[in-house]
Amino acid sequence: MRVLVIEDDPLIGSGVEAGLRQQDWAVDWVTHKAQAVSALQAETFDAAVLDLGLPDGSGLTLLRSLRSAGDSLPVLILTARDAVEDRIAGLDSGADDYLTKPFDLDELAARLRAIVRRHQGRSGNALSVGNIVLDPTAHTTTVDDQPIDLSRREFSTLQALMESAGKVLTAEQLEQKLYGWGEELDSNAIQVHVHHLRKKLGNNEVIRTIRGVGYTIDQDSE
Ligand code: CA
Repeated sequence: MRVLVIEDDPLIGSGVEAGLRQQDWAVDWVTHKAQAVSALQAETFDAAVLDLGLPDGSGLTLLRSLRSAGDSLPVLILTARDAVEDRIAGLDSGADDYLTKPFDLDELAARLRAIVRRHQGRSGNALSVGNIVLDPTAHTTTVDDQPIDLSRREFSTLQALMESAGKVLTAEQLEQKLYGWGEELDSNAIQVHVHHLRKKLGNNEVIRTIRGVGYTIDQDSE
């Protein structure tokens, strides 16, 4: 999953970036409101971490304009410990959750997973399609209850496809979910991840190639 971190404090920003990357998020970190606006226009994110006090304006204004444009991107705001009013204003402006500084990185990651999950309308954490179950928190994948060993990117590829089961994702959309800016990737990276996934899942049919469009996993029939 891909998250946009909007935070001007270099220590907090780099800490969040490193911490979330370790938990397999693709992370893009910007320090200014203007950069955040262009990133949000150019790319697709699964969530955003938003500091309210930015050098070129308030994070609240950014949040309000997102919501008034009908954008339901899950947003977690970061506020100072004593700034109760900021938290209230943030939640009233459409934030999905908040943390006060200083915060624990594991808690941040857990809260982000929770708001993404709510956004996707899932109550539990695990995703399941057919005989495959993927748990983003425990970072496990099973096929017929047997654990399989996936690389970080393979896991993220499968997660993205399962979250969008029934829809087609283009290789470009998958790249956007898997890689942050400036991360090196080969032009056929996604093709390679899908190839390995099919082998490891022991099934070539579960991830279908839609020629000229992208990849899809069929939704379970009800
Ligand atoms: Ca700040």
